[in-house]
Amino acid sequence: MGLEQSPYILYSDGKGNIFEDISLYVAGRSGWDAVDIPAEDWIELPFGGSLYELPGRKGIGIDVETGEMRLCEKGLAVAAFVPPAYSGFYMAAFESDADAPILPLFCYSAAAWLDGKFYVPAVRIEQDIRQDCEGYDSEKVAAGVNDLLKHYPHNRLVSHLANNCALTYQCPAARNFALGRWECPIPVSPACNANCVGCISLQPDEETIVSPQDRLAFKPTAEEIVEFTVPHLESAPYPIVSFGQGCEGEPLLMWETMRDAIIEIRKHTKKGSININTNGSKPDAVKALCEAGLDSIRVSTNSVRKEIYTPYYRPNNYVFEDIVESLKIVNSFGGWTSINFFVFPGMTDSIAEYEALRKFIKETGLKMIQWRSFNIDPDWYLGKIGVTDTGECLGVKQLQQLIREEFPDLKYGYFNPPIERINGKFEMDFAHH
Ligand code: SF4
Repeated sequence: MGLEQSPYILYSDGKGNIFEDISLYVAGRSGWDAVDIPAEDWIELPFGGSLYELPGRKGIGIDVETGEMRLCEKGLAVAAFVPPAYSGFYMAAFESDADAPILPLFCYSAAAWLDGKFYVPAVRIEQDIRQDCEGYDSEKVAAGVNDLLKHYPHNRLVSHLANNCALTYQCPAARNFALGRWECPIPVSPACNANCVGCISLQPDEETIVSPQDRLAFKPTAEEIVEFTVPHLESAPYPIVSFGQGCEGEPLLMWETMRDAIIEIRKHTKKGSININTNGSKPDAVKALCEAGLDSIRVSTNSVRKEIYTPYYRPNNYVFEDIVESLKIVNSFGGWTSINFFVFPGMTDSIAEYEALRKFIKETGLKMIQWRSFNIDPDWYLGKIGVTDTGECLGVKQLQQLIREEFPDLKYGYFNPPIERINGKFEMDFAHH
């Protein structure tokens, strides 16, 4: 892994054509700062990754002659979308014009060029191949969707997952459901008790960006949930069914329906894992789900510091301490506990966050960190949560190494593990998955 030398900056002509500028090595971004990226941190842009031109922005690079940082005046800044299963170490470094539009909800990793290839500073943090692009055959997905609609003609949730999620949003989880494998999504909630700045299912009208998905518009019944999840758990390889998806609000607001569904599912099958992806806001509801048979929880968060969490999540009627309590409850039932940790270089790897994370892992008995790329415009995010100085930073790579050394049993990844990994050998051979 890594390069012998720093790669060159990329720029765009504003018409979607991307070029390298060999007078400038690329710089990365950490918090509000442009920084040099160690050559050993670069990997080839993985299959499934893509490149973005950033309107109203100029890239920041390091002059190959003088070593000085300066703008690339040849065109627009370029960033990369790093695909699922990879954890990015640095964002794209750029300077924005005063009237630059807010960027949509994607991740903006540093991107560069050397010897005919694109590079990003990242690592494959998850060996599970469930969302690898090369694993999706669109004809097989379409055939699978037709089968689902035929088998469940009156099921509103299957219709939503088939037509909206698999075919329109191209959701990897919904497409895996249509292909009868691995993790099957169960969105349940049209409402939410948080108001995340970067919500992917609902953006306020006054914001200029849009949410990539529309929020579910109906309340599924327990019967509708059970009808397709039992066959999936019974027949899919490494089966997981997961409440809490990008196309809904907060599933815990529908805890009674989920409780009833879990009880009914477990009457029919003991197979697989029943998981919830959640903001973790209602510990009492989490307790009721554990009593019903919930196997695993993933709590999403941008930070394990209350003062950074609260201005981002803007919670209604719950507090940061509730998400800690929810994880502790699942841990007390022997369930699997993960955080869906939105990685923002300069914030996630700050000394303050590192210290808070050590305390958080000890207090919750956390089993796994899913190191997620944070899909958000960096200037907009830091502005919204009121951060002008991110403080001293370790580097995301070093943070991951330090936490791993201190907590050797803590697992790293990007996806909810199947019961085979939870109860068995966590390090699996995915070539034959
Ligand atoms: S918890 Fe989820 S659904 Fe609710 S506001 Fe945040 S991102 Fe949106």
